[in-house]
Amino acid sequence: MINCDSCNGECCRDVTVELDEPEDMEDWQDIRWMVAHENVSVYLDDEGDWVVEFRTPCSKLDKDNKCTMYGVRPTMCRNHELDSCVKNGEGDLHKVRFDTIEEIDEYIEKVAKPKMDYEASKKSQ
Ligand code: SF4
Ligand code: SF4
Repeated sequence: MINCDSCNGECCRDVTVELDEPEDMEDWQDIRWMVAHENVSVYLDDEGDWVVEFRTPCSKLDKDNKCTMYGVRPTMCRNHELDSCVKNGEGDLHKVRFDTIEEIDEYIEKVAKPKMDYEASKKSQ
Protein backbone atom coordinates (compact mmCIF):
# COMPACT_ATOMS: atom_id res chain seq x y z
CA MET A 1 0.00 0.00 0.00
CA ILE A 2 1.21 3.51 -0.81
CA ASN A 3 1.24 5.79 2.22
CA CYS A 4 0.64 9.51 2.12
CA ASP A 5 4.28 10.39 2.88
CA SER A 6 5.40 8.84 -0.40
CA CYS A 7 2.49 10.17 -2.48
CA ASN A 8 2.22 13.38 -4.47
CA GLY A 9 -0.97 14.30 -2.63
CA GLU A 10 -3.04 12.97 -5.49
CA CYS A 11 -6.33 13.14 -3.58
CA CYS A 12 -5.79 16.89 -2.95
CA ARG A 13 -5.50 17.72 -6.64
CA ASP A 14 -9.09 17.65 -7.78
CA VAL A 15 -12.68 18.40 -6.81
CA THR A 16 -15.33 15.81 -7.59
CA VAL A 17 -19.10 16.32 -7.46
CA GLU A 18 -21.73 13.64 -7.97
CA LEU A 19 -24.13 14.08 -10.88
CA ASP A 20 -27.57 12.67 -11.60
CA GLU A 21 -27.42 9.83 -14.09
CA PRO A 22 -27.85 11.30 -17.60
CA GLU A 23 -31.24 10.19 -18.96
CA ASP A 24 -31.96 12.33 -21.99
CA MET A 25 -30.21 14.51 -24.57
CA GLU A 26 -30.58 17.58 -22.37
CA ASP A 27 -28.51 15.82 -19.68
CA TRP A 28 -25.91 14.77 -22.26
CA GLN A 29 -25.70 18.33 -23.57
CA ASP A 30 -24.89 19.46 -20.02
CA ILE A 31 -22.10 16.86 -19.83
CA ARG A 32 -20.76 17.95 -23.24
CA TRP A 33 -20.64 21.51 -21.93
CA MET A 34 -18.79 20.51 -18.75
CA VAL A 35 -16.14 18.47 -20.55
CA ALA A 36 -15.58 21.18 -23.16
CA HIS A 37 -13.79 23.09 -20.36
CA GLU A 38 -10.11 22.56 -19.62
CA ASN A 39 -9.29 20.14 -16.78
CA VAL A 40 -12.88 18.94 -16.44
CA SER A 41 -13.86 15.30 -16.95
CA VAL A 42 -16.96 13.23 -16.28
CA TYR A 43 -16.93 9.57 -15.32
CA LEU A 44 -19.06 6.70 -14.11
CA ASP A 45 -17.31 5.27 -11.06
CA ASP A 46 -17.00 1.68 -9.92
CA GLU A 47 -20.04 2.09 -7.65
CA GLY A 48 -22.27 3.26 -10.50
CA ASP A 49 -22.25 6.96 -9.58
CA TRP A 50 -21.80 9.68 -12.22
CA VAL A 51 -19.19 12.24 -11.21
CA VAL A 52 -17.78 15.50 -12.59
CA GLU A 53 -14.07 16.00 -11.83
CA PHE A 54 -12.33 19.39 -11.79
CA ARG A 55 -8.56 18.87 -11.82
CA THR A 56 -7.27 21.75 -9.74
CA PRO A 57 -4.88 21.44 -6.77
CA CYS A 58 -5.96 22.55 -3.32
CA SER A 59 -4.38 25.88 -2.35
CA LYS A 60 -3.52 24.38 1.06
CA LEU A 61 -1.16 21.79 -0.42
CA ASP A 62 2.46 22.88 0.02
CA LYS A 63 5.42 22.18 -2.30
CA ASP A 64 6.20 18.98 -0.38
CA ASN A 65 2.64 17.73 -0.97
CA LYS A 66 1.66 18.25 2.67
CA CYS A 67 -1.53 19.87 3.94
CA THR A 68 -0.82 23.24 5.59
CA MET A 69 -4.12 23.20 7.50
CA TYR A 70 -4.17 19.55 8.54
CA GLY A 71 -5.59 20.20 12.04
CA VAL A 72 -8.57 22.12 10.70
CA ARG A 73 -8.91 20.46 7.27
CA PRO A 74 -12.46 20.16 5.93
CA THR A 75 -14.63 17.17 6.85
CA MET A 76 -14.41 15.89 3.28
CA CYS A 77 -10.63 15.50 3.77
CA ARG A 78 -11.04 13.89 7.22
CA ASN A 79 -13.41 11.28 5.80
CA HIS A 80 -11.02 10.31 3.03
CA GLU A 81 -9.86 6.71 3.52
CA LEU A 82 -6.33 5.61 2.69
CA ASP A 83 -7.22 2.04 1.75
CA SER A 84 -9.77 3.11 -0.86
CA CYS A 85 -8.02 6.28 -2.09
CA VAL A 86 -7.14 6.87 -5.73
CA LYS A 87 -3.68 5.33 -5.21
CA ASN A 88 -4.70 2.33 -3.14
CA GLY A 89 -8.23 1.38 -4.21
CA GLU A 90 -8.68 -1.90 -6.08
CA GLY A 91 -10.26 -2.56 -9.45
CA ASP A 92 -11.13 -0.09 -12.18
CA LEU A 93 -11.67 3.43 -10.90
CA HIS A 94 -13.92 4.34 -13.82
CA LYS A 95 -16.43 2.23 -15.73
CA VAL A 96 -16.68 5.00 -18.33
CA ARG A 97 -14.63 8.20 -18.51
CA PHE A 98 -14.86 11.26 -20.76
CA ASP A 99 -11.91 13.62 -21.06
CA THR A 100 -12.99 15.11 -24.40
CA ILE A 101 -16.27 16.10 -26.02
CA GLU A 102 -15.46 13.72 -28.91
CA GLU A 103 -15.42 10.78 -26.50
CA ILE A 104 -18.86 11.81 -25.27
CA ASP A 105 -20.25 12.13 -28.80
CA GLU A 106 -19.03 8.65 -29.66
CA TYR A 107 -20.61 7.25 -26.48
CA ILE A 108 -23.90 9.03 -27.21
CA GLU A 109 -24.06 7.48 -30.70
CA LYS A 110 -23.00 3.97 -29.69
CA VAL A 111 -24.50 3.58 -26.21
CA ALA A 112 -26.71 6.39 -24.93
CA LYS A 113 -28.94 6.93 -27.97
CA PRO A 114 -29.73 3.23 -28.48
CA LYS A 115 -30.55 3.00 -24.75
CA MET A 116 -32.79 6.09 -24.87
CA ASP A 117 -34.53 4.77 -28.00
CA TYR A 118 -35.14 1.44 -26.28
CA GLU A 119 -36.57 3.15 -23.17
CA ALA A 120 -38.83 5.32 -25.36
CA SER A 121 -40.11 2.27 -27.28
CA LYS A 122 -40.90 0.46 -24.02
CA LYS A 123 -42.95 3.45 -22.80
CA SER A 124 -44.94 3.67 -26.04
CA GLN A 125 -46.00 -0.01 -25.88
S1 SF4 B 1 -4.84 9.29 0.69
FE1 SF4 B 1 -4.00 8.19 -1.08
S2 SF4 B 1 -4.00 9.66 -2.77
FE2 SF4 B 1 -4.23 10.80 -0.86
S3 SF4 B 1 -2.13 11.41 -0.29
FE3 SF4 B 1 -2.60 9.48 0.77
S4 SF4 B 1 -1.84 7.88 -0.59
FE4 SF4 B 1 -2.01 9.76 -1.81
S1 SF4 C 1 -7.37 20.96 2.89
FE1 SF4 C 1 -5.51 19.74 3.11
S2 SF4 C 1 -6.19 17.59 3.10
FE2 SF4 C 1 -7.86 18.87 2.28
S3 SF4 C 1 -7.60 18.88 0.04
FE3 SF4 C 1 -6.52 20.67 0.85
S4 SF4 C 1 -4.41 20.01 1.18
FE4 SF4 C 1 -5.69 18.17 0.97
